[in-house]
Amino acid sequence: MYQTTIKKAVELVGIGLHKGSPVRLRLEPLEDNSGIVFYRSDVDVAISLSPQNVVNTKMATVIGKDGYVISTIEHLLSAVYAYGIDNLKVIVDADEVPVMDGSSASFCMLLDEAGIQELNAPKKVMMIKKDIIVQEGDKYVKLSPSPDLKYDFKIKFPHPVIKNQEYVLEFTKESYKNEIARARTFGFLHEVQYLRSKGLALGGSLENAIVLDEKKVLNPEGLRFSDEFVRHKILDAIGDMSLIGMNFVGNYEAMAGSHDLNHKLTIELLKNPENFEVIELVGEKTMELEKAYV
Ligand SMILES: [Zn+2]
Repeated sequence: MYQTTIKKAVELVGIGLHKGSPVRLRLEPLEDNSGIVFYRSDVDVAISLSPQNVVNTKMATVIGKDGYVISTIEHLLSAVYAYGIDNLKVIVDADEVPVMDGSSASFCMLLDEAGIQELNAPKKVMMIKKDIIVQEGDKYVKLSPSPDLKYDFKIKFPHPVIKNQEYVLEFTKESYKNEIARARTFGFLHEVQYLRSKGLALGGSLENAIVLDEKKVLNPEGLRFSDEFVRHKILDAIGDMSLIGMNFVGNYEAMAGSHDLNHKLTIELLKNPENFEVIELVGEKTMELEKAYV
């Protein structure tokens, strides 16, 4: 199985969540072994994807270099990672990726439009070799060795619409597109009002998030899935795990996980070389994974 990039450059324009102004996003093909590279065309700064370049995980996953940042990268990266794309240049002309509808569906459509191009070098994947867990109180995120790619997420919110939800994704590109990609981010009205008062989330609206008051969903169209909330958490987790720089093979499990815990998990994983083994997918080893990413 070979590394991939996209067949042709593609673009879209959408609103940035924080500033509320239009952002142009352009994806371009890259050569073998280049990885995912972000580039801010407005200030001529490139930022490569690595846990070391993560500068903030409060509201979204934010990467930065020399004081320049790119925010809200996780939904785009979720789609890129789920499509098994190894090499890609991501260009934005502002400090954030457009939020689109709060899910990764638009990015999947963009990647479908671009098409997948196989390159010449073998694909590398990271096999998880040990249990790695990051725990804070009753919240945790965990990776464990397994030949399957599985995401198992649980959330618990004292809200009548959310309550306890669990979702298990047996990962394939198809299951991702059908079960996860359309799940939108969510927030509570009082948080949105607070952020607005601080000059943040200016682009946030019912067009790009599920917003809840104390009792119900405020979006007139309602939910896309009754468990859309936990499905979105899996979408985020997939995007956040892409920071390790290649697809991994193993199980991901979380209870009330967050961008912050996911970031700590990637750091913990990479800290000890005994936690993982990077293998090239040549010969028989490719078969299972080819099924997942085709
Ligand atoms: Zn999200």
